[in-house]
Parts: sequence; C-alpha cells; structure tokens
Amino acid sequence: MPNSKSLILFDIDRTLFNTPLFVDKQLQKLTQTLDTDSQKLQKNFQSYLASLTDTTHFSPDNFTTYLAKYYQHDVKKVREAFYHSSNFDSTLYPEVKEVLQKLQQDGYTLGIFSQGFIDFQLKKLTENNLLDFFDPQHRYILREKADPKLIENLPENTVIIDDKITIITFLERFPHIIPLHIVREPEKPIGEYTLLNLQSLFPILAQLRHS
Ligand SMILES: [Mg+2]
Repeated sequence: MPNSKSLILFDIDRTLFNTPLFVDKQLQKLTQTLDTDSQKLQKNFQSYLASLTDTTHFSPDNFTTYLAKYYQHDVKKVREAFYHSSNFDSTLYPEVKEVLQKLQQDGYTLGIFSQGFIDFQLKKLTENNLLDFFDPQHRYILREKADPKLIENLPENTVIIDDKITIITFLERFPHIIPLHIVREPEKPIGEYTLLNLQSLFPILAQLRHS
C-alpha cells in the first residue's frame, strides 16, 4: 500500500485543468478575431471534433488551419487567438495548487499522465505555473497513454488519477497500480474510489496506507 514516498500521477484535462472552461474562453477569443458569431464558431468546433475518433486527438495546428481556411484569415492570427494567455486565466480547478503543495510536503513524488500533443499539454501547465510540481522523470505525455509498457515500468503502488473511465478500467488490469477516478460533474454516479475534487484524495490516501 502507498507510503509517503509513493508516486502519484495526474491526468491533465478535467483532472487538473478545467478544459470546458478553457474551450469556452478560446472560442470567445476566436469569435472576436474571426469577426463571426459564437454559434457559427461553435458549429465549426463541433464539426472539427466530429472528424476525430477521440477528443485527445485534438490538434491545435489542424483546428487553426481549418478555421483560417474557412474564414480566409491569416493562420498566424488565428493561432495567436487560440493560444492567447488570457484563455488560460483561472483554468485550474480551485483546489489544485493547494493540494499539490500539501502532497509535496507530505513527501509524495508527483507526476503527469496525459494524452495529447506534448507542447499543447505542457502549455496548460506552464501558463498556470504548475510544471515545477512534477518530477521531470515522471512527466508522461503520450499520444496514446493506455500503453502497457509504460504502466509496467511504474513503481509499486503508483496512484493514478484520471477522469476517463476507459483509462481507469485499463489501469485496473495492473495490480501494482491504484487508479482513482475523478468525476468533476457531481451528477454522475460515483463508486468506492471516486473523487469529486482533489481534496478527497487525502482521506483515500490515509485509508490506503492503513489497509
Ligand atoms: Mg482527462
């Protein structure tokens, strides 16, 4: 069971980072830049998403290229709007920094377990001054993170927190891993190890240490 030297890995989107809020801010900025209306842009966004097999395949380059073509706009300007630093304001869930600080003080090693394009995922952390919390040896950002080789090499009793049930189910195959499901929308059904926010990590860690 986890001790004070255990490794804890965090997913980024919808675990640390309020992705729906961020997307709202981006679409608002893009609406201004492209001089269109938000409904029309929302339609562009949905049709781009519909072309993907999974939302983690979201490519900032492809999406901005598509918008630039559609609106006959300079792609550089579209990318400036997409990556504008104001889009990242207040996009961490409110308890995140406090919880990471406390876990670090308690002696846990913290890391990242994320899927997507590495530069974009890192930007979500750096724009929020979060990167330094995570051990450089344990910042896993992969195009497909359900990778048995990666998981097999993780230390005994690694805790992994993720909002995606398919990832939790995949992780449950590995006896040396403790997957914890975080559900940011409270109306969804919850199970034994379901967190509603990261604060609920502390009682679970205490319980696991004593079991
Ligand atoms: Mg996620």
